[in-house]
Amino acid sequence: PKKSHKTTHIFLPHLVASLEVEQTYIMVKPDGVQRGLVGEIISRFEKKGFKLTGLKLFQCPKELAEEHYKDLQSKPFFPKLIQYITSGPVVCMAWEGVGAVASARKLIGATNPLQAEPGTIRGDLAVQTGRNVVHGSDSPENGKREIGLWFKEGEICDWIPVQEPWLRE
Ligand code: ADP
Repeated sequence: PKKSHKTTHIFLPHLVASLEVEQTYIMVKPDGVQRGLVGEIISRFEKKGFKLTGLKLFQCPKELAEEHYKDLQSKPFFPKLIQYITSGPVVCMAWEGVGAVASARKLIGATNPLQAEPGTIRGDLAVQTGRNVVHGSDSPENGKREIGLWFKEGEICDWIPVQEPWLRE
């Protein structure tokens, strides 16, 4: 398996399987927290069938926001983006699953909420790129990198959801 993937082993009466899973970093941005959308956003990933492995409410320091978004450093909106992400608490989440990174991006929708499809989080809940309520990693490599940035060791839990045999054959 590639370094950004891990193999998870599931041993349950109905199912014995080795799955190559990805980790993705999902974050409810400060506007999502202020607007009371935390439960709604968590719920979309939970209902889809991904596994929650990390979760916390967190006031992000400026340095961490800058490190997280370092690829966008040269963009004109970078200072405003850092101001936005540090303007109030965020909800940090780590989710795991087969194909979780690309699937989470689909659930989130396009960066500009006016272009995001109805049914996606941004398509249903937001109207502007600068207030697009949620973040999701754009590659398995970045998923690993971002979970490492936002979570300390010991804050990520590995566990076996009992629903697993009902999620896949
Ligand atoms: P995504 O979050 O969909 O992966 P990007 O990586 O391109 O999108 O940008 C990261 C975040 O930066 C966006 O989610 C948004 O909050 C902000 N952003 C991107 N483009 C703009 C813009 N033109 N004006 C203001 N904020 C922007």
